[in-house]
Amino acid sequence: MTRPVYRFAPSPNGLLHLGHALSALLNDAAARAARGKLLLRMEDIDTTRCTPAFEAAIRADLAWLGITFDGPVRRQSEHFDEYHEAVELLRNRGLVYRAWLTRGEIRKAVADHEASRGTPWPRDPDGAPLYPGDLTVLGQAEIDRREEEGAPFALRLDMARACAAAGISTRQPLTFTETDADGRETRVTCEPAAWGDVVIARKDVPTSYHLAVTLDDARQGVTHVLRGRDLFAATDVHRLLQVLLGLPEPVYRHHRLIPGPDGRKLSKSNGDTALCALREAGATPAEIRTMVGLG
Ligand code: GLU
Repeated sequence: MTRPVYRFAPSPNGLLHLGHALSALLNDAAARAARGKLLLRMEDIDTTRCTPAFEAAIRADLAWLGITFDGPVRRQSEHFDEYHEAVELLRNRGLVYRAWLTRGEIRKAVADHEASRGTPWPRDPDGAPLYPGDLTVLGQAEIDRREEEGAPFALRLDMARACAAAGISTRQPLTFTETDADGRETRVTCEPAAWGDVVIARKDVPTSYHLAVTLDDARQGVTHVLRGRDLFAATDVHRLLQVLLGLPEPVYRHHRLIPGPDGRKLSKSNGDTALCALREAGATPAEIRTMVGLG
């Protein structure tokens, strides 16, 4: 039997907090229990917000927690050519299109629609508005003008075509395997269409979170994806990309999140729960385990 492969994949755009500690510790425990491997990946496609200093701080926190990784760290920023290749595969099959709308234009189109119709614009599982489409908002002449002047564009997945190309239908839905803490498996039905035409390559870099995470898990031979519950719905997009790109399907487990002092999800801006702040205040790794409910 091949050894299970787990990974911890933080973004070095801030400091690790207790939620990350839970994720890293669960991955470490699962990999050890299965005599598997644990890999470290830096999800640093956002080359302006991610810095070597945050990567160094993250690695210091993980070492302090007593977590060691197998093999070298994979940095997404060093693999843009691989993402570009995957995007081209999708593009050659007519599954992606150039999307010109800026964030401000999307916001305005959605607000105008909601004000004039009095009905909410459809949103994705994270609450972001679905892409309104260039033609209806800009018109063909403006699209042509932007194309001519070389305005920056993102590449978006044509979700309807992508689902058709992947052979997804109500009779043959896409699914993934979710396991719980005791290893019990359930098969979850995916609804990638709920995400609309997701970004596949951003304006500034030749990939997006969804594409990079999916491709990397395959490239790194990850067999078990163990991450926060906040990424449960995004798995539907990742499964779709796996089918379209002919990539293997890992097993998933989405763990509970650690609420912040205000009861909401922890974020990197919750400075007081940063691991290094807790360490400086005298907390021990054992106390961190207790704080995340692994005591
Ligand atoms: N980089 C993501 C984060 O820091 C995790 C992505 C994943 O585990 O799939 O939230």
